[in-house]
Amino acid sequence: MTRSLSPRVEAVFWFLLTAVGYFLLASVSLYATKGEDNIAAVWPSSGYFLALLLLMPARARIPGFAGMAAASLGANLLGGTPPWICVAFTLSNGCEAALALWLLRRRETGELSFMVPRSVANFCYAAFISSVASASLAWLLTGNGADFFISWLTTVLLGMLIVTPPIVMLARMVGANMFTNAPNGMSLEATAILTVAGLVTILAFSQSQFPATFLPCIAVVAAAYRLGPFGAAAGMLIVTITASLLTGQGFGPIAAIEGEQKIRVFFLQFYLLALLFTTLPLAAMLIVRQRLAKRLEQSNRWLLQAEAAALVGHWRVDLVHWTIQWSDQAYRIHGLELGSPVDVNYSVKQYVAEDAAEVRRILEHAVQTGEPFEFQGRIRRADGEIRHIKSHGSIEIDRSGRTVGIFGTVQDVTETVENARILEAARSAAERIANTDMLTGLPNRRHTLAFLEKALAGAREHGAPLAVAIFDIDHFKLINDTHGHATGDKVIQRVAQRAKAALRDEDMVGRIGGEEFVCILQRSSAQSAEIIAERVRKAVETGTAAEDAIPDATISVGLAVFDGELDIEELLHRADQALYAAKREGRNRLRKAA
Ligand code: GH3
Ligand code: MG
Ligand code: MG
Repeated sequence: MTRSLSPRVEAVFWFLLTAVGYFLLASVSLYATKGEDNIAAVWPSSGYFLALLLLMPARARIPGFAGMAAASLGANLLGGTPPWICVAFTLSNGCEAALALWLLRRRETGELSFMVPRSVANFCYAAFISSVASASLAWLLTGNGADFFISWLTTVLLGMLIVTPPIVMLARMVGANMFTNAPNGMSLEATAILTVAGLVTILAFSQSQFPATFLPCIAVVAAAYRLGPFGAAAGMLIVTITASLLTGQGFGPIAAIEGEQKIRVFFLQFYLLALLFTTLPLAAMLIVRQRLAKRLEQSNRWLLQAEAAALVGHWRVDLVHWTIQWSDQAYRIHGLELGSPVDVNYSVKQYVAEDAAEVRRILEHAVQTGEPFEFQGRIRRADGEIRHIKSHGSIEIDRSGRTVGIFGTVQDVTETVENARILEAARSAAERIANTDMLTGLPNRRHTLAFLEKALAGAREHGAPLAVAIFDIDHFKLINDTHGHATGDKVIQRVAQRAKAALRDEDMVGRIGGEEFVCILQRSSAQSAEIIAERVRKAVETGTAAEDAIPDATISVGLAVFDGELDIEELLHRADQALYAAKREGRNRLRKAA
């Protein structure tokens, strides 16, 4: 407001604003409401000056105090107060303003806001302490009685409590352009409510036939309710001005009270204080509630946005009333229209039969133990589509320890489940390929030896019998040389097929070299291992009379039986030795290791 002014002009501006306002308010209140001890019922000048001190820049305070001193002396002298008393009054009011400002600056870090309950409390505290100080000083300087002290105290206190807040709030609202930016309806409502407050105060205080002093109370409470702290403060100011002026002029129910003038002044002050302390806290609490509601609404909006972005919903079962609530995202996940009615049974029944029982079991267990839970299951949506749903949650327990609700999140994990399934299929295919010999489809060398290693460990641990048979195709080089490599491959394939067909399900045969194979015979005694190995040899041999073009082949077999101590190398070496023996002895035969 004064930023563009030069320092001198600024000083003059604040001097005049303080002096003129202070003088006018002091003169009016002295003229209209003055009691026998030359003290008005309300001293608005104190509130006006404190408001200006709070609004003015620090460098304007000296001209401000000068203006206040000049106006105070002038108004009191004109009101007929003796000069020495005028000086005492001015000194007291000046000290009181300085003390109030100092107390507020010390307790409030930023600008004093009447929208924050703590700041309102600080303001009331500063106003009370400075009023007590100013009453004490005036009382000491003038040497008046206890009545004087009390009436000065209430007068000044009322002046500050009633006048400072609306002026400060109004100035800040003008500074923030709140009037030009406010919606039309609001300014209209504010004007209407404050006009009604003025009118009902006139109605209550212009006649004494009906003691209608409660009417202004209703109006100020309505102003606080609809307009917040500004409404409370402005309503209070209007009621104070109207009621004080009318009472001072002898109108209304308070002026009609019989007895000394002092009693009527006290009653008016008491009335105004009661009104003030009803509406100010109410307005402050209201603004806190409004702020909370706004914050709640905001967080709720953020929650819904977060749920929509993360594709996570939430639900809550009220166990007392047996109802369920779903968030918007939960509805979307379940494929239902937002807000359509759902109940607890329906929610569980959406799961496919196999999963519904498990979901029910997990939830019942959680309710019984009070522990957090987690489940995953498939639901059949309204459109028939099957989706995988994952839920995490916890049990709600009230203060008396009663289980009152179940809260859970819900997430559509269909894509994740589907991806995991594809990944697992690819992994097991890759593993199969890595373990399989491409020519024969049998387990390859790596897989066969790994299997043998495991089988050996199992046999050692459980003392189970185990035997290994290595076999090699006889004169295979000759087959290759005579019929070509491709036919040789077919011979290898056929030998593999026949060997496998001759084995039991629990046996395993793998290709460990060009035309070399290993049979792992588990849980078979030395005797039965020999029978099986011989069966394999025979199967290859007897199959040779086939009608297709694949040439005949035989195999030689070396068998070694695990004795409980051998390691894999030793066992294979023994089988190999036996195989060599079979070859040496003429081929197409089985030899057992010694
Ligand atoms: P023996 O009766 O003593 O076993 O005589 P053999 O001729 O079979 O001798 P050996 O077992 O040493 O011969 C292996 C031959 O097998 C050597 C190689 O050319 C051939 N061979 C190895 N792998 C393959 C294959 O995958 N396909 C074909 N067609 N031949 C292979
Ligand atoms: Mg060989
Ligand atoms: Mg061979």
